[in-house]
Amino acid sequence: MFDIIVLGAGASGTVAAITAKRNNPSLRVAIIESMPVLGKKILATGNGRCNLSNINALSHEYHNKDFAANVLSRYDVKKTVDFFNSAGLYTVTDDEGRIYPMSNSAASVVDALRFECERLGITVITDEKISNIKNNGDFFILGGRHRAKKVILACGGKASPSQGSDGSGFELLKQLGHKISSPIPALVQLTSDNKIVRSFKGLRVKGKIKIFAESEEIGKAEGEILFTEYGLSGIASMDAQRILCSYLSEKKCSVVIDLVPEFTKEGIRQRIDNIISLNPNLKSENLLIGFLPKKIGKGLIKCAYVKDNTPINEISEENLQKICDLCKSFRVYISGSKGFENAQVTRGGADINEFNKDTLESLKVKGLYATGELLDVDGGCGGFNLQWAWSSGMAAGKNAANN
Ligand SMILES: Cc1cc2nc3c(=O)[nH]c(=O)nc-3n(C[C@H](O)[C@H](O)[C@H](O)COP(=O)(O)OP(=O)(O)OC[C@H]3O[C@@H](n4cnc5c(N)ncnc54)[C@H](O)[C@@H]3O)c2cc1C
Repeated sequence: MFDIIVLGAGASGTVAAITAKRNNPSLRVAIIESMPVLGKKILATGNGRCNLSNINALSHEYHNKDFAANVLSRYDVKKTVDFFNSAGLYTVTDDEGRIYPMSNSAASVVDALRFECERLGITVITDEKISNIKNNGDFFILGGRHRAKKVILACGGKASPSQGSDGSGFELLKQLGHKISSPIPALVQLTSDNKIVRSFKGLRVKGKIKIFAESEEIGKAEGEILFTEYGLSGIASMDAQRILCSYLSEKKCSVVIDLVPEFTKEGIRQRIDNIISLNPNLKSENLLIGFLPKKIGKGLIKCAYVKDNTPINEISEENLQKICDLCKSFRVYISGSKGFENAQVTRGGADINEFNKDTLESLKVKGLYATGELLDVDGGCGGFNLQWAWSSGMAAGKNAANN
């Protein structure tokens, strides 16, 4: 019999187990993990660099912010950095507030967590997927054989199932009588049937995006946009998808991209007029090379129904206006997303109304806690989701150890 079993050796689970054991070293704490190794998904984060937090990770950045607020403020970014420092891992912060391990390697984060589990004497059982859980009032039985007085479910959501989080945590919660709000993929690439967009594949811009469900503007995103053979990728597109995720199946959605955020429409026009007076016979396909990759400029010229080889001084006033409009407001209709297979995070999950927002203990089953993506809390790109995983892991671990 263990005092605490943590199910899932991902971001929130390892931190929960370490926090529980640090708070009360006499407890027998175990982690059970379905994958062969601890922290597999962490290795893939931040393109292998692990963007582990963000100095702006405050509750208003999150879905279900009121639920997340207490945990995020009690176990904030500073506490997280202190936690990692105390496990021998140091961090650096980039100009945009993103926090990375000083080694620039996600493997260091996993190593630090693993070594800390070993140092504290936490039992780590790998290669064992748990499919059933029972509670008899005094203790829990997991997979028919592991017994524990308390259980912290840290199984993640459904995003990126090849790294272990296949949604089985939701099934375990249902077995214990919890409600699950329908999980949907979030922070994932957007698909579009727009042939011009697809023809830009491989090209990147730093742009600003306005996000629309039907005609209603529902949010904004900005940063890198990568055009692909299926639609849009890059951080700004993934953030836009997260804002759109609950509308995608029901409404006609689109994004309007400002491809040249550095200049106003008038600023672009003024510069275009300069080019026309300097080099009036230049072919129209080259009109925008000073602002955008040539292929994108060419695509916009095509959208304005101007032929590639028209000399730029023959483009009509109306079409010049149209070209400037397209630079600032290029609308792309969205057909969907690349799904859970490619998603970074899950929207939906354990109904937050059934958990105590200070301790993360279930209000239905005493001694049961949930953390991380299993709960219906998610944030944008930039370290926000791992911060929620660490914060919720610390909260559940501490409360499970002390109560
Ligand atoms: C490619 C990618 C890149 C990302 N990059 C970033 C980033 O740079 N910054 C950031 O903040 N966020 C990033 N994220 C999101 C972040 O990784 C997750 O939000 C975070 O890992 C969630 O932590 P968690 O503990 O809830 O779940 P997870 O880390 O998914 O851990 C859950 C664990 O539980 C195990 N498990 C599940 N079910 C069972 C079961 N039934 N029995 C036993 N074990 C089970 C799984 O194998 C897994 O190890 C990224 C996600 C992906 C997919």
